[in-house]
Amino acid sequence: MVEALRNPRLQGFGTTVFAEMSALAQKTGAVNLGQGFPDTDGPREVAEVAAHAVLHGPNQYPPLLGQPGLRAAVAEHQQRFYDLEYDPDTEVLITVGATEAIAGAMFGLCDFGDEVITFEPSYDSYSASIAMAGAIKRTVLIEAPHNTFDIDAFRSAVGPKSRAILLNTPHNPTGKVFTRNELEQIAAVAIEHDLVVVSDDVYQHMVFDGEHIPIAALPGMRERTISIGSAGKTFSFTGWKVGWLTAPQPLRDAVMVAKQFLTFVNAAPLQPAIEVGLRLGDEYFEGLRTDLLAKRDRLQTGLELAGFDVLHTQGTYFLTADISSVAARNNMPATSIEFCLALPEKAGVVAVPSEVFYETKEAGRRLVRFAFCKRDEVLDDAIERLSVLA
Ligand code: PMP
Ligand code: GLN
Repeated sequence: MVEALRNPRLQGFGTTVFAEMSALAQKTGAVNLGQGFPDTDGPREVAEVAAHAVLHGPNQYPPLLGQPGLRAAVAEHQQRFYDLEYDPDTEVLITVGATEAIAGAMFGLCDFGDEVITFEPSYDSYSASIAMAGAIKRTVLIEAPHNTFDIDAFRSAVGPKSRAILLNTPHNPTGKVFTRNELEQIAAVAIEHDLVVVSDDVYQHMVFDGEHIPIAALPGMRERTISIGSAGKTFSFTGWKVGWLTAPQPLRDAVMVAKQFLTFVNAAPLQPAIEVGLRLGDEYFEGLRTDLLAKRDRLQTGLELAGFDVLHTQGTYFLTADISSVAARNNMPATSIEFCLALPEKAGVVAVPSEVFYETKEAGRRLVRFAFCKRDEVLDDAIERLSVLA
């Protein structure tokens, strides 16, 4: 489409890097460690509930807020893991993936010209959702290699037009898990300036070092926080696009008003299935974490053997590597986009250039993201291919 035909606020947004890189993997036959999706489906008992529901119902529009059983299960999950209490009828909303919850929050909360503070790098839908809402993004840099940020820079990003903070922990793409101390500092700013926090917690069950602390659990924060989860991540059904949020009623309703005109509701037969998923025993959630931890270590070792400088990942299913030395040794481009375009031919692997997640492009120019939510044999195949770079 000719860019000039597009809403000016969406100029500059092309096809997502994930779609582009998956297409590149398909075209070149490379192992796809780019787009973050698991290559094995989630629990069979959950899929069976969905299959049964497709055959026997419910197959008509579910209630606007989501099916009551699923809303109850979301509230129970928040209580069980984080001791957070939410009323399933007034404080829970089921969405079309976390993506819709994020977009709905931006549309429901922001007026034209309002500002949203978020970190960079950040997941690509954040910029687009903020732009579509007519709001303005202010970013604070998470700095490689230790994934720290400057709280004074964070404070300076707040101004009279600030409306919300869009937080993501565990963080895509860096793998950072925000510490209690960092969250307390962010919470203090939110309280002082009366900001809403939209907390994208989709990787909440994938923490390897430290713990996932929902910012809603800190003193004074429940009343100003929208917490977002995703069945795509938690149950490895990314194609189902089931998400949810918990928030006090006025905030829940702000998102609901926007959401009802975006999609109204999401797929009915998937809702009872995710309800069952959320009530699975602790061994399921612990198994997800330990499986991914072993995969993180497997891929990290392989990347290091191939000569990458690998940054530490505390959570999510992504690893970031600095390409500088590998690129120099192999006479490859040392900038992440060009490196990722050359990698399929050079080594038969697709990764995502982290640069696309940054506003300050220079900060991400040497960083590349690899997804490790893949079968061990696929990771081993990728590692073997990458060994040509060593
Ligand atoms: N937030 C982050 C940080 C993500 O990485 C993703 C991955 N797709 C999403 C939101 C979107 O989740 P969903 O597929 O449930 O819309
Ligand atoms: N969240 C996944 C990632 O970061 C995939 C998102 C997508 O394909 N839009 O790779």
